[in-house]
Amino acid sequence: MSDRRPEPGTPAGSDRRPEPGTPAGVPDWVPLRDELRGEEPYGAPQIDVPVRLNTNENPYGPSEATADDIASSVRAAALDLNRYPDREAWGLRTALADYLSREVAGLDANRVWAANGSNEVMQQILQAFGGPGRTALSFAPTYSMYPEYARNTHTRWVAGQRRDDFGIDADSAVALIEAEQPDVVFLTSPNNPTGTALDPLHTRAVLEAAPGIVVVDEAYAEFRRAGTPSALELLAQFPRLVVTRTMSKAFALAGGRLGYLAADPAIVDALRIVRLPYHLSSVTQAAAEAALRHAPELLAQVDGLRVERDRTAQRLHDDGFTVAESDANFVLFGTFSDRHAVWQGLVDRGVLVRETGPLGWLRVSIGTPDEMHAFHTALQEVTDVEAR
Ligand SMILES: *Cc1c(COP(=O)(O)O)cnc(C)c1O
Repeated sequence: MSDRRPEPGTPAGSDRRPEPGTPAGVPDWVPLRDELRGEEPYGAPQIDVPVRLNTNENPYGPSEATADDIASSVRAAALDLNRYPDREAWGLRTALADYLSREVAGLDANRVWAANGSNEVMQQILQAFGGPGRTALSFAPTYSMYPEYARNTHTRWVAGQRRDDFGIDADSAVALIEAEQPDVVFLTSPNNPTGTALDPLHTRAVLEAAPGIVVVDEAYAEFRRAGTPSALELLAQFPRLVVTRTMSKAFALAGGRLGYLAADPAIVDALRIVRLPYHLSSVTQAAAEAALRHAPELLAQVDGLRVERDRTAQRLHDDGFTVAESDANFVLFGTFSDRHAVWQGLVDRGVLVRETGPLGWLRVSIGTPDEMHAFHTALQEVTDVEAR
């Protein structure tokens, strides 16, 4: 990691100095679109410290056996790299449908779509269903990428507010949807950066009020607590519902770049219009299919991570912090009058967390027990210093 160049990722609202090597912005002579002037590329700082708990990755990598299967599948695909890949990625979509079928019946490859990360899936959704004269809406605090896809696709962006407990107030959500008539609504459950899973009654209220597409972003679905339902169960009833998932988090495949969705086949067909030709490389398809063959092993760590998450939340609470309820693989905690100082103090002690979410809060991804021990120890030291 030491050869990794620092990224220009200064989170919005932070007064942090740019990291070394950050370009001083795009010069005037570069004919960038006006609305992109002064914008920063997305990026959590990739700082080389021993304990990295800032991007909600799975701390456990694939096993040797899984890596070997991925390598031999990619090798087989390599012999065909003179040819374009299967544009429709049927094999992969079938495998993803099989995987989802463990949660809900009736899903086949026609109802599943895949792209390079669920970020690309969501951008395609706005390319197809947003655009000039159209509106997308979500409820803050939530995933910071949604407004960027809206900006990139010239879609008007409206941000409602979540409640103080980071849930959604159904009445005001419905009122906002009725007033704004959004073409696309993004709901995130469990939400990032707060960890909050939506009450299914509230999801239903939004689905009933929304005139267009409703995306439920379930990037963290596998981490939800027992008894928390998935929006997959609502697909049969609501044809304009899209549920997005990713292999980046529970599946320990963030580097593989594979996100997907489940929706009505007509919605999937609409997305095929805007996708770039051959958007999913043969290498990506082969690697993801191989990883899916090892789903039980890759997901074996999820239960342990959920236990570690609950333990982390409890310990933070016992140490006197405010902690947001979490159904994800991270915990939002606070509150700090100077969260940047706490973030920096942790970095100085070799622990990287994320400075994100509502002012005063920090987000820690769940790592191994040793990493969490290092985090708690460092946090205790930092807050002792801060308190003096
Ligand atoms: C991490 C994350 C994603 C996943 O992004 P990929 O492009 O699939 O890696 C999607 N939505 C949310 C809310 C996330 O936090």
